[in-house]
Amino acid sequence: MIRVTVWNEFVHERHNAAVAAIYPDGIHNTIAAFLRPHVDLDVRTATLDEPDHGLSEAVCRDTDVLLWWGHAAHDRVEDAVVARVHRRILEGMGLVALHSAHVSKIFTRVLGTSGVLIWREAGERERVWVTNPGHPIAAGLGDCIEIEHSEMYGEPFGIPPPEEQVFISWYEGGEVFRGGNCWRRGNGKIFYFSPGHETYPIYHHPQVQQVITNAVRWAQPQGHWPNGFRNVLPEQAHEKIVATGPSVHGPGGTLVGRGKADA
Ligand code: ZN
Repeated sequence: MIRVTVWNEFVHERHNAAVAAIYPDGIHNTIAAFLRPHVDLDVRTATLDEPDHGLSEAVCRDTDVLLWWGHAAHDRVEDAVVARVHRRILEGMGLVALHSAHVSKIFTRVLGTSGVLIWREAGERERVWVTNPGHPIAAGLGDCIEIEHSEMYGEPFGIPPPEEQVFISWYEGGEVFRGGNCWRRGNGKIFYFSPGHETYPIYHHPQVQQVITNAVRWAQPQGHWPNGFRNVLPEQAHEKIVATGPSVHGPGGTLVGRGKADA
């Protein structure tokens, strides 16, 4: 069973009539609703206004794959929560970053780049071309996904070179965009998928739902990489060794002379 948490800032659905008409229960509940019928997925939701943004230590520990949707309130996400999510990704939790998550704190922190791009809100056609039909995230799709009305996201896109490229988008206005990319950080898998502007019913599109479902399965943890230092003492080495030379460490590996300045 893959334990999935769908996180949404849940702002525009409550303050913009056009968005509320498409997602009356919020984008998170729309995404959760198409994931839940899959018997291998155990799905919960979390939103910005909940305590800890719904991402307590316990929730993060019990999440295998986190989906992130944010746009208007990136700066309201507490740094402590971002640090917690980042640590869990390094341990092995998957992150599926959706649409304007490209400049969320967690996305830019985990990838280390700006996430900036060019954009245009004109309701134009988007074709999401499959660049790697053999990739598990592209399973069940044809040559491309056609989205009748979309927001243009264009290059240059401030991301590290994708480790795997699954999709590239074309827009009616002529731009192209690396809209479906994979990375690994620590033991965690990260997938960014660009379609999802909130004034269009993009998360109701069956093929978009297929991509997100595939991505959740792809991003599930493979093993667990615990964070934290571990000092292996000379007498604990697998081969017999004798410690020689000077050391800044005392018995048991403690750092000698550690004071306030280097605490
Ligand atoms: Zn948008």
